[in-house]
Order: sequence, then structure tokens, then C-alpha cells
Amino acid sequence: MKIRKGDTVVVIAGRDKGKKSEVVRVDRKADKAIVKGINIVKKAVRRSQEHPAGGFVEVESFIHASNLMLFCPKCNKGVRVKMVIDKDKKYRVCKKCGYKFEETRS
Ligand SMILES: [Zn+2]
Repeated sequence: MKIRKGDTVVVIAGRDKGKKSEVVRVDRKADKAIVKGINIVKKAVRRSQEHPAGGFVEVESFIHASNLMLFCPKCNKGVRVKMVIDKDKKYRVCKKCGYKFEETRS
């Protein structure tokens, strides 16, 4: 799983194909991510303070990481990345142009 929270990704399959957005949550075990505005589903909610009328809200649902590509600002599109270790730090690097993404923690 090469996608992290806060990444900009491009959707490469499904209903939102071609869209670019930000990762808000990842589920590493399931290899899935929540991406802002992507894979929206309508969810029924009960009446509450937050939703006084009840009814339906639109929420993002998990999308599989295989449907996402990391967005490379240099290539200006979704790209494949490889992991590179430099001075004990791990980086993700664009396979096309060599762009180094910000340092990752794990
Ligand atoms: Zn690139």
C-alpha cells in the first residue's frame, strides 16, 4: 500500500475515473482508502441534532487502493511509484520522472 493520508491521488477505475482528490483516511489492512468527494454513497440517517430532518446524507465510501494512483505534480498525472531508501529514510519516487514525494513515516 503506497497511499497515505493527505496524498493527492487520481482515480483510475470506476465511477469517478479521472478525478483527482485528497486521501482523508486509509485502511492499510484492507488496502482501501477514503478519498474526498470520491465514491460517494447515500446513507440513511436517523433524525438527530446534526441532521434534524433525518433522511439521507452523502458520504464517501472506501475505494480499493488498486483503483488509485499517486498524483505526480511534475508529470501532472497519476503515476506508479517505487520505494527508495536514502540515509535510513524511505521515500516514494515517481517511476517516470524521479520526483521524490515527501518523506514517509513508516
Ligand atoms: Zn513524475
